[in-house]
Amino acid sequence: MAGEVLVVAEQVNSQVANVTLELLGEGKKLARKLGSPLSCFVIGHNMEAAVDAVIRAGAEKVYLADHPELAEYKTLHYRRVILDELSSWATPPHTLLMGSTTTGRDLAPRVAAFFETGLTADTIELDIGPYEHTSGIDQTKIGYFPECLYASRPSFGESLKARILGPWKDPQMATIRPGVFAKPEMLTEKPEGVEIKKVAINFQPSDYRITIKETLRELEGKIDITAADVIVAGGYGLGSADGVNLLKDLAACFENSVVGASRKIVDLGWMTYPYQVGQTGKTVRPKIYIACGISGALQHRVGMQKSELIIAINRDPDAPIFSFADQGIVGDVYHVIPEMIKQLQEKNTSKLAELKVK
Ligand code: FAD
Repeated sequence: MAGEVLVVAEQVNSQVANVTLELLGEGKKLARKLGSPLSCFVIGHNMEAAVDAVIRAGAEKVYLADHPELAEYKTLHYRRVILDELSSWATPPHTLLMGSTTTGRDLAPRVAAFFETGLTADTIELDIGPYEHTSGIDQTKIGYFPECLYASRPSFGESLKARILGPWKDPQMATIRPGVFAKPEMLTEKPEGVEIKKVAINFQPSDYRITIKETLRELEGKIDITAADVIVAGGYGLGSADGVNLLKDLAACFENSVVGASRKIVDLGWMTYPYQVGQTGKTVRPKIYIACGISGALQHRVGMQKSELIIAINRDPDAPIFSFADQGIVGDVYHVIPEMIKQLQEKNTSKLAELKVK
């Protein structure tokens, strides 16, 4: 039997991150294909609620490293507990998944380097399937591999989707950006019989080479555009930073809404980076995404194309965004948005369902 499918959990203030739950949902599908268990490595301090959440999200086995030193993410301490534990296994995990977040991007390459295994970053699709390696300079790599991790990611400026394989050594690793996969349905009750293994913690003096002096997370913490039901995003078509107020007015017509931005207006300083949607910003999948004066460049599209309903407002009828928007309005944002606000206020409807049937 192939090794486990292991998700390394991410946490802030002992609360498990959404990306971890998303990876557990997707990891379950891979585990079923392999006939292997889905496990989760939880690292932090006071992690009872996080353990509960990962089990309700589908983890069938939990490795728990709970220690005051692990309360905040620290590269070397986290690396130590993962490597100590995994090196003691007779069979390594088949697949190891982490979020493509600041933490995952720091930690995953260190784990991959230790095991001298491959790592695909910023993956957008995962699957398990066969691969036959028929030729190559390294003859030891030739062979048939029935169960490889297929990790697909955009390449060549997003114009191609490349499937990346590294079946020669387990764990086969990938990082996945938040919002790429849907969160699984959470069980209301924790199932019985899930094994929680407390892993040994043996920090070494060399792990203390890095110390955290201060943690600043307030700004990012307050702005989580990935959790919004409605995103009113603005682009260069707004004409100036003042246009952002118009976005805010439209967003205020909806519950659980937020404004978003294309990279161009973040680069111009009209909005700040936590609001940026796209390849180098956040990946979002709200119920409604209203793109105002955004052309729909590929790098923007990859961050919002999984939104349930995309409404685009653009004065250019040939703007690329109209080729993938569900509803398009050709017009000037300064005419269309005030009219939308007026109509929404008149009907006093912030209900998403009502807007959808229009
Ligand atoms: P533009 O492309 O200039 O489009 C403005 C649109 O507004 C036009 O379609 C125009 O017709 C319309 N318009 C003008 N005036 C009005 C008006 N009054 N009313 C209505 N419509 C109007 N971009 C991202 O967004 N996110 C990313 O994460 C990202 N990452 C990138 C990574 C790399 C490596 C690279 C190379 C680029 C990246 N980009 C990213 C940039 C991306 O390629 C585009 O340049 C950017 O998305 C364009 O932003 P925009 O749509 O606001 O501006």
